[in-house]
Amino acid sequence: MSEAKLREEMVMLSRSLFERGYSVGSAGNISAAVDDGILITPTNSCLGFLDPARISKVDAAGNHVSGDKPSKEIFLHRAFYQTRPNTGAVVHLHSTYATAISCLSDINPDDCIEPITPYVVMRVGKVKLLPYVPPGDPAMGDMIIALGGAVNAVLLANHGPVTAGSDLRSAVFASEELEETSKLLMMLRGRNYRSLTDEQIDALRSKFR
Ligand SMILES: [Zn+2]
Repeated sequence: MSEAKLREEMVMLSRSLFERGYSVGSAGNISAAVDDGILITPTNSCLGFLDPARISKVDAAGNHVSGDKPSKEIFLHRAFYQTRPNTGAVVHLHSTYATAISCLSDINPDDCIEPITPYVVMRVGKVKLLPYVPPGDPAMGDMIIALGGAVNAVLLANHGPVTAGSDLRSAVFASEELEETSKLLMMLRGRNYRSLTDEQIDALRSKFR
């Protein structure tokens, strides 16, 4: 895909996320890899009203080369590109239900989104909960780098989800699947329910990967 087309797709998918309430105000940021660096939504921009020409571009070393100033949460994005070589895009949202789960004190930090449906297993995989740090703190990126590319998605405690994908659509679809699964988990809290078993998860992984 050409860079011009990719910019148009970032605008379209960002607007779609905004219009469906996955992002409010200037929350959330999205990036996509290009041959000579990364395109990322500008700092304080609203996902509903991006201008393709003003999307920030940084080079492989992280230097700002064109467009508006990049998101201050760029560390989250660069950490995924550095540790998962097939990453084509990264989506970070403050979506309501995933953020609610990120505030719970009784979840498993190594597997914080329970595999209750096949779709979250296939599109998102295991999700790690990372400890709270203030927004824009480079420690966020360091914590993702420390995972060594082991996971496709993380929840930042008391903050929100970050998902990666091989291209922009798969990263966006993973962020939507993570949010919808979080919503189901919050609806099920306090009720008796079953997760998929390890055997069922292994079967999905061998069939769909
Ligand atoms: Zn954030």
